[in-house]
Amino acid sequence: MATTKLASQDVRQVAGELPRCRSVLAVCAHPDDESFGLGAVLARFEGLGSSVSVICLTHGEASTLGESAEGDLAALRQSELINAAEALSLHAVRLLSYQDGALRTEPQDRLAAHVTEMAGETDADLILAFDEGGITGHPDHMAATAAGILAASQLGTPVLAWTLEQRVADALNSAFASTAFKGRATGDLDIRLEVDRQSQMRAIACHKSQSFDNPVLRRRLAEQGTIEVLRWLHQR
Ligand SMILES: [Zn+2]
Repeated sequence: MATTKLASQDVRQVAGELPRCRSVLAVCAHPDDESFGLGAVLARFEGLGSSVSVICLTHGEASTLGESAEGDLAALRQSELINAAEALSLHAVRLLSYQDGALRTEPQDRLAAHVTEMAGETDADLILAFDEGGITGHPDHMAATAAGILAASQLGTPVLAWTLEQRVADALNSAFASTAFKGRATGDLDIRLEVDRQSQMRAIACHKSQSFDNPVLRRRLAEQGTIEVLRWLHQR
């Protein structure tokens, strides 16, 4: 029987499931990125049997959403992250103290060294990050992703990025004057998942200082519905 080539190199195949892996390390800039952004994907990895850990580079103390919160916002957001980690059943979470809003001024190899260290401790065989445009365009998100990519290239580990469909980014940017979401065309996507948001919603509720009055988050989740999309940034 003749063999048929299933796909030529230039045809991008969109998978309907996450890759199987032993341990995932998600690299985030702010407490809440792991829940607001990655929550449903992290839950899906766990459902597939992966151990999931998060490294977060700042305490998110510069957020304007929490400015009315009483007391020290950095400490509050640390406790919110700890609660969200429990809601997401994370294996481990590490919160660093780089300055919120200034990650791109830090030496990239210094940030990457933290990722490499935790990837070693958690035996990670996959790094998960926000897409290169930072999703919201936040420079801290881009710096965190760059650190993840640098660490992964040293470790020989693939990097999978959470991203948004272009139509979701467009809908948000036309609904809110202040947003600059970066989406991806369908042809740039590698994985399209149907997700359950139950544990993500519990984790979001833990970040009360950021989710209490956040119409952009609510609208994004409504636009995404039960769909999450991802793309490979770096493959072994
Ligand atoms: Zn963020």
